[in-house]
Amino acid sequence: MTKVVLTKCEEYNLDLIKQDLRSSLSFLGGLESFIKKSDKVFIKLNCVGPFEAEKGITTHPVFAQAVIQLVKEITTNIIIGDNPATKDLTFTLKKNGLYDVIIAEGVEILDGRESTTIVNENCHIYNQFQVSKSMVDVDVMINLPKLKTHSLAYMTGAEKNLFGFIFGLNKAGWHVKASNPLEFGEAINDLYGAILNAFKDKKILHIMDGIIGLEGEGPSSGGITKKANAILMSTDAVSLDRVAVEVVHLDNKKLFINKIAGERGYGENNLENIEVLGNSIDDFADINFLPPKDSLGNLGLRMLRIKTFRNVLLEHPVVMHNSCIRCGECAKICPPKAMTIKAGEFPRLNKSHCIRCWCCSEVCPKNAIKKSRRPIIGKIVF
Ligand code: SF4
Ligand code: SF4
Repeated sequence: MTKVVLTKCEEYNLDLIKQDLRSSLSFLGGLESFIKKSDKVFIKLNCVGPFEAEKGITTHPVFAQAVIQLVKEITTNIIIGDNPATKDLTFTLKKNGLYDVIIAEGVEILDGRESTTIVNENCHIYNQFQVSKSMVDVDVMINLPKLKTHSLAYMTGAEKNLFGFIFGLNKAGWHVKASNPLEFGEAINDLYGAILNAFKDKKILHIMDGIIGLEGEGPSSGGITKKANAILMSTDAVSLDRVAVEVVHLDNKKLFINKIAGERGYGENNLENIEVLGNSIDDFADINFLPPKDSLGNLGLRMLRIKTFRNVLLEHPVVMHNSCIRCGECAKICPPKAMTIKAGEFPRLNKSHCIRCWCCSEVCPKNAIKKSRRPIIGKIVF
């Protein structure tokens, strides 16, 4: 049995979160069983973009501060950060309110200028990944994902948060390389395998900030902020995500990244083999997250392996002119350059080049990118 500690926590109160984290950690042998005084610890945030903390998109500053303070009781050799989708890390941290916390706690911000290659010999598709060197040159990683839905991946949690290991702004490029959802799921798992390999003699602890999360068209400004009142903790990202999906009453069958991970043996995706400690899942009976609109089942995911099916089966991004500020962020990130923008104009989409990765929606600061209706043929087929 793998262990997931589930704790009900309803507010971002520093003392309360620290107390909850301490009691959660006691089920796993305490933080001392993960960190030694001489260790260097990397705290991996979810810092996808420059969004205010209360939107529930990024790791909340108070949550991060609680973790930092507990780690500092053992070692002050801590670095913290992420590779945001578009802007540089410091800019993003300032917008999230994380920057002030990090400075106040005297913690080092990740230096993202150097990269290294990590390898997954047992990959299914991709065996090498260029990642931020400072993220792997440590003894311990504490991963702090958010509990959010995801337009492409259905839900994003502990495993998907590690996509932020990808160096600099290179994440968008992976959407082109692995341009259908199932291949993307394989790529995320190839990366996860490479990270597990890079940390094989080190420790990893995942602590999910699920006090406030996102439902609907997450993982960014397209989603709706929603309370889940949950903190989840585990050494196994797959088990943690499996329990998280249950807490918010989403459909585990659609969480294909976790399914692939379970099949590969990267973690436990079968609830019967997971011991839930602390609160029980039933304590969250009133928490229901809306799934992303028209999320696909297994058949749909398989059909999308054939590129030409996309336009007839899938929604496409639509720019809402009444909220778009013509900043161009969507065009800047669009991996296949399907979204373009001319000075002073609204962005335009070349639908046949669009791979439906939803990076544009993820970075849009104004939530100005919506999903079109699903084409009739798509509705019939799915
Ligand atoms: S759709 Fe969003 S990201 Fe794109 S130009 Fe408009 S406001 Fe900027
Ligand atoms: S337009 Fe949006 S969904 Fe389409 S490929 Fe570009 S970033 Fe991805």
